[in-house]
Order: sequence, then C-alpha cells, then structure tokens
Amino acid sequence: MPGKESTPRESEGGQLAMLTSILNGMDALITVCDPETFEILFLNDSIRDFFGIEGDGVGELCYELLQNQEKPCEECPYLQLRQKPDQVRKWIHKESVKGSILSKTARFIDWPGGKTAHLEYATDITEARMAREALESREKMLGALVQAALVLFSQNEDNFLDTMTAGVNIIADIMGIDRMSVSRYDENTDGLYASQIYLWNREKDSANTIPGFINNPYIKQNPRWRDILSSGECVNGPVSLMPEARAIKQFGCLSVLAVPVFVGGAFWGFVLFEDLKEEREFTNNEADILRMAGIMFANTVMHNETAAKIRLADKQLKRMMQEIEYQNHLLHTVNRISAILLQAEGKAFERDLLRSMGIMAEAARADRVYIWENYLKEGERFCRQTYEWSEGAPPLQGSDIVSAVSYRDTAPNWERAFLHGECINGIVSKMHTVEKDFLNSQGIRSLLVVPIYLKEQFWGFVGFDDCHKERVFSFKEEQILRSASELIANALIRNSMEKSILYLESEADKIYYDPLTGIYNRRFFDSTGNQLIRTLSRSGGNLSVMMIDIDFFKPYNDAYGHVRGDACLKAVAETLKGALTRSDDFVARYGGEEFVAVLPNTDEAGARMMAQRLLNAVRSCEIPHKSSDAASCVTISIGVTTGKAGHTQSANDYVRRADAMLYESKHSGRNKYTFARMLDS
Ligand code: GH3
Ligand code: MG
Ligand code: MG
Repeated sequence: MPGKESTPRESEGGQLAMLTSILNGMDALITVCDPETFEILFLNDSIRDFFGIEGDGVGELCYELLQNQEKPCEECPYLQLRQKPDQVRKWIHKESVKGSILSKTARFIDWPGGKTAHLEYATDITEARMAREALESREKMLGALVQAALVLFSQNEDNFLDTMTAGVNIIADIMGIDRMSVSRYDENTDGLYASQIYLWNREKDSANTIPGFINNPYIKQNPRWRDILSSGECVNGPVSLMPEARAIKQFGCLSVLAVPVFVGGAFWGFVLFEDLKEEREFTNNEADILRMAGIMFANTVMHNETAAKIRLADKQLKRMMQEIEYQNHLLHTVNRISAILLQAEGKAFERDLLRSMGIMAEAARADRVYIWENYLKEGERFCRQTYEWSEGAPPLQGSDIVSAVSYRDTAPNWERAFLHGECINGIVSKMHTVEKDFLNSQGIRSLLVVPIYLKEQFWGFVGFDDCHKERVFSFKEEQILRSASELIANALIRNSMEKSILYLESEADKIYYDPLTGIYNRRFFDSTGNQLIRTLSRSGGNLSVMMIDIDFFKPYNDAYGHVRGDACLKAVAETLKGALTRSDDFVARYGGEEFVAVLPNTDEAGARMMAQRLLNAVRSCEIPHKSSDAASCVTISIGVTTGKAGHTQSANDYVRRADAMLYESKHSGRNKYTFARMLDS
C-alpha cells in the first residue's frame, strides 16, 4: 500500500532520529563532529556515561569537552582524514581524562542534512591491555627464571657461591629484590628454629653461606610465619602491616615475600625475598615466580650442602683407608721382624736386632728406636740404653745422657706409668716439665715409649722418637708398636740368656778337660764313673775299665826333654781317644802319664779286644824311645777288668782292680795288658 511521501525535511529528521537511536544502543563510545569546525554533532549515551557529560553536548567543541584542551591536537585524525576523505583510520589512544586505553576508529560519513561528518568509534580496551601487560611481564619473569635456572645448572663444587650470586642477581633485578636468604628449620630442645644457611645482599654485592646464623628471629619470635609457611602459603606484603613488624624492623626491610620449601612432602624451610626500599605487596604473578625461584635456590643450596657432605665423607673415607693401609704395613712389618728375630743367633744377632729396629722405625716413621734396660743401684731404679737405631736424628748411643739415668730424677712420671703397664705416647711439648726438659735436649718432638716386662718384673722399655713433627700415636699404632717392642726386647733378653748359658756351659766344660792333652780329666771320670755304674746296675750291663800307663816315661823325659815329653803325652792321649769305637766309651787322663779308659756295656771279650787294640795303636805311632827296655818306640802297659755293674760298687773299685792288673803288666814285661774279672762285691 503506497504511503504518503514524506518531505525532505521530515525524512531528514527521521533519518537522524533513527541513526542516533542506533548509535545510542551501542556499547562503543561514539562521537560525531563537524570536520570543519570541530563542533560536536552527536554523542551517544555510552560516551556521555563514560565522561559523565550532562546534556547532549551538541554544538560544543570536541577537544574542549572530551579532551580538556584548547585546540585540536596535531595528530587529530580529522586533520588527516580531510586530506584522504575515503580513508578509515584506526589507532590506540590513551585518553587524558580517565587514563583509559581506547581502541579508536575514525571515518567520514554522510550525516543527515547533506553534511559530511567525522564519526569516531572507540572501545575501552583498558582491561584487556592490562591483562596483556601482565602476561608480558609474567613472560619476562619466566624468562628470567629460566635464565637463572640455566645459570644454576652450571653449578659445581668449586663455583657454588658465584653461580648462586649470578642466579639470584637475575631474579633480584627483575623483581626489585634487595636481599635474599635461605633458612632451614631444625629441631632442637626448644622446638623448631630456623638457621640461615645462605644469604645474598645487593648492597654488599656479596653472597655467602653463614651456617653460624641460627635461631633466626623471624621465626623464633614469630610462630605465625611458621604456621603460614608450613601450610604451604607465602608470607607477603609490607612489613609495617604485619603483627611482627616491631621484631622485623631492625633488619631494615620494608616488604617481604617468604616462600615455603618442602622436601619429600615435609616442611624443610623457607626462602625470604626482601625489598629494602619500597612498601609493596608482591603480585600473584611475582609471588608465583618467586615461589619457583625460591625452591630452585633452596635446592641448589641443599645440593651444595649434600655435595659438601659427600666430599667430606669421601675425604674421611680416604683418610681411613690410608690409616688401615698404614696399620697393615705396620702389622706386616711386625711379622717381618719377628721372622728375622726368631732366626737371629750368635754373631749375627746384634746386626739382625738393629736391622729389625730400623725396619720398624721406618714403618712407624720414627727417627730413632731404642732399648733401655733397668738396673738397681743402692735400692734405686736406674736405666741405661743398650741398643739404638737412628737415622733421621743424631744417635745418642754411648753418650752420657743415655747411661745411668735415674727414674726418680729424670722421668718420675714415666716410671709411674710404666709400673702400671702404660705407654708414654704423644707430644713432648705437652709433657711434664721434668721429662720435657730431658727430651727437648735430644731434639725429640713426639714419642711412643713401651714398658717391657720380664716375668712380671719391669725390665726396661722400648721407645720410638719422632724428631720432625708433633703427633700422637693412634691407639692401633700403639697396640702394634707395643707388640713390636715386646718382640725386639724379648729377642734381646733371649739372646743374652742364651749367651750366659753358653758361657756357663763353656766354663763347665773347662773343669772336665785336661788342658795339656785335650781329653777328659780325672775330675770327669770321678763325677761320671759312679753315675755310670748306677745306670748300668739298673740294666744289668757289663762295665770294663782299663788303667793305662806309658812305659819308661821318666827315661823318655830324661832323654828327650819335657817339651817332647808333653808332646808325646798328647800324641798318646789322642791315639787312645781315636782308637775307641763306641760313642759311650771314653778315655781320661788319670794323672801324670796314666790314663783310664771306660767301656760301658763291654764284656771280657770286648775288653780284651779293645786292650789289644790300644796297645797296637800306640805302638803303631812309632814314637822313637831310645831309653825304653820294652821296645824301640813308645809303648804302654794296661790293666783291664770287667764286671757286672752292681749298685754296691764304686768307680774306684774298678780302678783299684785295673790298677792291680796294670801292676801285673808292668812286672811281667810291659807293653802288654793283663786282664782279671772284677771280684764279686
Ligand atoms: P814305668 O814304665 O814303670 O811306668 O816307668 P816310668 O818312668 O814311666 O814311671 P815313673 O812313675 O817312675 O815316672 C813317671 C814319669 O812321668 C815322671 C814324670 O817325669 C813323668 N811325667 C808325669 N807327668 C808328666 C807330664 O805332664 N809331662 C811330662 N813331660 N812328663 C810327665
Ligand atoms: Mg806311672
Ligand atoms: Mg810309666
């Protein structure tokens, strides 16, 4: 149905009304101006609300009403649009009245009434922009966190403090942090307390670990923090607003962010970031990043602590291994010297003893080893050095200081210790004055001295000197060197005992031998003869005894002189000894030129055979004897007797019987033997 045609004026008014109602319904801020005069043609409801404009603003100048300026600004898009009317301009504008950030679009449009008007369309993007900025700053902080993490990754045992400082610097710079510390909770009798184990300080540009700083007052006086932190929350904000402000003020921080650190699910401690210049609350973003950074820093500190502990344990283990090796070496050495000393005898003993002492000294890293022996003089105990080995220090052997040393005057404390079986072990400078003076004069800096007991009697001591360094011998060392000392001293004692036994034996020997002929003497015969009879009487054995006398020996002496007489005696003695066949047989010089031969377990036949053998043996020596009536050479006469040894008999009974037979031989021509059985007792 055709409507009534409207007039241009009417349609103009209708167009305007329609347009403005549409524009008023939009959320965007819309301005329409005259491009020539800058007069406002229209403001929609949104923009009037935004700026709080009362009335419609039409006819006012846009720069005055909307921008509070006296003239259009030079960048005004209208000016640019005038040159290119078809253009659409878009830009971001931070308006000066409210400080909002607006995204604007401007273009020329046909305004009802045939005018060209400038339409400006603005959206408030302040919130979006701020969100973006926050995102950007978070990205920046995350970037810093990654950078710090990379720095910390390069951390090793040598550069811990440097890498920590570098890492903390990165975070501190971007976060405006002036001080950072890592604190660990520990339990003691008072309950929980915190120990600061790492501190970084911007002002001092220094970082360190300060394990001495315990009982951190933040915590000790401030259980609130502990409660917050252990529940996994942060402590965040200006110190002045906190209940514990008074306690914290002394540390000079204005704002803090404390982030908790958990290890294996348990509350371990916290990392504290401090701002010394500004009062502020850390934003959620900042707190998030610092929480991560804090955990990272705490982990690095923990890692370093663990590594340090491992290094220490490693060092201790190495030291222990060395100690064990050393002890093994000492033990091995003790074994070695015990083998040497067991075989040390006779002339080689002294050499082997000193060698053993030297080997032991070297193993124990001692400069001197010595053996001292005690003796009593007028009831007082003295000691003197008997042996010394020395290499790293001047020898003292033979000097005055090592002979006739009185315990009472020189080492009273040692004597007391020794009598309790204790060693002297340690550093000379820390010993009693009496002993110290004596030892200092010998250049000794440390020593170990072991008492030696012989049959529960304090015999003397063995000592080890170190003239180069101060040290205390370890318990194990002392034990091992104690056994070594006992070995050495016992070898010495055993050797001197052996020596005196040998001496006594040789002395004993002397009394049983005839010095001229070298064969047994009469004393030997006297002391063994009766013993022999007793032994034989038990076994019912025979005993044969011969008395032997050189024929015409007086004339021999007269003819050839005493010296040749002696030589003759010797020759006859040796011949007689050599002619005996059994090991139990023996011949002794009975006196002058008389001998007695004893033949145990020899019957008459055997005795006769042996008598003949002796006669022949002497004859076959063919010692010339020009004054003999019996032969042209030296001969003997023998009296022989044999009997069943009876316990009532004595050696003299046999001698008497044999002597009687000798007498027979002499009187029946000499150079012969005469036999008769022993008469029954
Ligand atoms: P007979 O044949 O009767 O035994 O005559 P004899 O000369 O051997 O006996 P007598 O008892 O008269 O002399 C023993 C001599 O032996 C006397 C002494 O000069 C000698 N005589 C004794 N002991 C030693 C000695 O140790 N050395 C030397 N050279 N002669 C000795
Ligand atoms: Mg005689
Ligand atoms: Mg004679």
